[in-house]
Amino acid sequence: MIKIDGSEGEGGGQVVRNSVALSLITGQPFTIHNVRGKRSKPGLMRQHVTAVEAACVIGAAETSGLAVGSTELTFRPGTVTPGDYHFAVGTAGSTGLVLQTVLMPLILADGPSRLVLEGGTHNMLAPPFDFIERCFVPIINRMGPTVTAKLVRHGFYPRGGGRIEVDIVPSPLRRIDGLDRGALVSRSVNALVAGLPGEIAAREIKEARKRLPDWPEDAFSIRQLPEAQGPGNILLVEAEFEHVTEISSGFGKLGTSAESLAKDASRRMSGFIESNAFAGPYLADQLLLPFALAGGGSFTTVKPSQHARTAADIIDLFLGRRFHFDQQCGGEHLVRLR
Ligand code: AMP
Repeated sequence: MIKIDGSEGEGGGQVVRNSVALSLITGQPFTIHNVRGKRSKPGLMRQHVTAVEAACVIGAAETSGLAVGSTELTFRPGTVTPGDYHFAVGTAGSTGLVLQTVLMPLILADGPSRLVLEGGTHNMLAPPFDFIERCFVPIINRMGPTVTAKLVRHGFYPRGGGRIEVDIVPSPLRRIDGLDRGALVSRSVNALVAGLPGEIAAREIKEARKRLPDWPEDAFSIRQLPEAQGPGNILLVEAEFEHVTEISSGFGKLGTSAESLAKDASRRMSGFIESNAFAGPYLADQLLLPFALAGGGSFTTVKPSQHARTAADIIDLFLGRRFHFDQQCGGEHLVRLR
């Protein structure tokens, strides 16, 4: 039984998701104490419970301590069975984070799967659907599998009600190297609003234009979603390169001005573009699990986040393989499995 202290390192939900995925893939049971020990409200939240429940369904796993607020979780995996699955996060919890939990086990299963996930699709502190579709999935597909993700309906916090559909054609994961992002292909800044005044999106676009002065005029756009999908707002700043796409997002919320979220998302994108790295900070922590399962490969990234370092620790516990993060003379970090 692998024992994990959930308050170590980054101390959040990703420790739980990565442990569950690795447990299903390797067949090793684990127990976590101090679940989400570094969060202001420690313990499992609804979305983590749904993610683990989804893992139990696809992988015939047994658990103890699986309840909202629980700070101890034990997980005993069974056999992963591919198929058609439907999981709903009862609140606006992130569908993307449920996907993060079950995707790799299903990619390595012995038949195709289809997932319908309902809940939030554009949540703070989670990958927005656009990031999954255009940043994460294309890299996974380059490693062998065919994953297709479709957004049926947007879901914002607190209402939720979003829906995504994911088709998975499995394949062993192949090692790849992401050292060169290639030439810039396109850039866009898209402000989405649902059930909120369009003026919010207009202010975000105005600020982003100011912060990204060399981006072409036609890169900036506003999209008004059906009122029933709101209230919600997100700004997506996207740069597509030949070999990788980066999206930095600004999540609209009470108490954060349209200008400040646009300034922050634009600044993060400018930093990424200047860095010359292949993967931005979020993509980097999300790529560690598939790269570990591929048994190697390498990529460059900006300064590794605590999320990435903690994901590397969990991978080491289950696979006995360690990622190394070595700063290069250009400032970017080279991530390699040793
Ligand atoms: P945790 O905070 O431990 O629940 O993990 C959050 C996960 O969501 C990590 O894998 C992050 O990379 C990912 N994430 C958080 N915010 C974003 C964002 N704005 N864009 C893409 N991924 C994100």
